[in-house]
Amino acid sequence: MKKILLIGTGGTIASQLTADGLAPELTSEQLLAQIPSISEICRVESVQLLNLDSTNIAPKHWLRMVRCIRKHYKDYDGFVLTHGTDTMAYTAAALSYLIQQSPKPIVLTGAQKPIGFDVTDSKANLKDAFRVASSDMPGVSLVFNGKVILGTRAQKIRSKSFEAFSSINYPALGVLRDGVLLPYIRQECSPEPVFYEALDTRVSLLKLIPGTDPALLDFLLERSDALVIESFGVGGLPEYEGADFCGSVCRWTERGRLVVLTTQVQNEGSDLGVYHVGHRLKAVPGVLEAFDMTTEAVTAKLMWILGQTRDAQQAQRLFYAPVAHDILWPAER
Ligand code: ASP
Repeated sequence: MKKILLIGTGGTIASQLTADGLAPELTSEQLLAQIPSISEICRVESVQLLNLDSTNIAPKHWLRMVRCIRKHYKDYDGFVLTHGTDTMAYTAAALSYLIQQSPKPIVLTGAQKPIGFDVTDSKANLKDAFRVASSDMPGVSLVFNGKVILGTRAQKIRSKSFEAFSSINYPALGVLRDGVLLPYIRQECSPEPVFYEALDTRVSLLKLIPGTDPALLDFLLERSDALVIESFGVGGLPEYEGADFCGSVCRWTERGRLVVLTTQVQNEGSDLGVYHVGHRLKAVPGVLEAFDMTTEAVTAKLMWILGQTRDAQQAQRLFYAPVAHDILWPAER
C-alpha cells in the first residue's frame, strides 16, 4: 500500500464557523479523522505546515511547501496538500516551477464547503486527491470535483459551487468517477525531481479597463522587475491622446524590466500580431507574450525565472521554454 504525506495549509476545507466568519482551524489529523475509509486507499501520515485562508498565502509560503516536500520526498510515495481554493491555482503553478519532473504525485485539493458541514465537497475531494497521490500520475496537479488538472493550467472559475476549477487551454489529465481514477494524460518525469528554492516576488499585474490611467504603468514598473499586463482580446495596448502605453513600456524594458502581454479572456490566449494595437509590441525587446498560459502560471513563472537570472535574453528563453506543459505555442511562430 502506498504511503502518502498530507500537508495541511488551511482553507475552507479546514474551516469552522466563528463569530467573524469561516476561519481555518482544523488540523490535518482532524481532517483525516473525517475520512476513516482512507485506510482502504493508502497509508497516510500528516504534517500541519500552515493554517491560513489562502488569501493570506504568499510566495514565502510556497517556498515552505517546497522545503517540506523536499525534506520528506524520499519517505513517501506521494503528497497531498490541502489548501484554500482562492489562490490554489497560483500555488499549483508555483509548485510546478519549483518542483519539476517529479516522478511522484504532488496533489493540491480543497473545498468550497468545510469538512464539518452536512453538505460538503470536502470528503470527496480529499479522498480523490489521495487516490491520485497513490496512483502513478507524476508531477504537480490539482484535484477538484472529480477532475485532475495540470498544475500550470488550473484556474478558479466559480466562487461558490463545487465545480470551482477549470483546466485552461489544456485537457484535464484525468477524471474520477465514483472513486475510480481514469487517467488520460501522464506527465513526463525524470527519475529524480528538480527542486528550486529562489523566487523574485517583484512581479505585478495590471488589468486594463477602457481609459486606464497610463501613469499606473509607470507606478507599477517603478516598483517591479516584471509586469504582466492583462489586455483585451488577443492583446494590444491602447493608443489615444495623452496615453503612450507603448512608449512607457519601451522606456522600462530598455532599463531591464520585463513586460508580459496577456489577455483577460479566459480561453484561447493571446496573439499580439493580429491587430495594429498589439503588432508593434512584438518588435520591442523585453516585451513577451503569454500566448496560451494562464495569468497564474505567468506570474509564478516570472518569479521563478527572475529568482534565477537577471539577464533579459536568458529570462526570455526561460519564459518561452515549456515547463509542465504551461505553454504550447512555439515562440518562433
Ligand atoms: N477563502 C477560502 C480560502 O481560499 C476559500 C476556500 O478555501 O474555498 O482559503
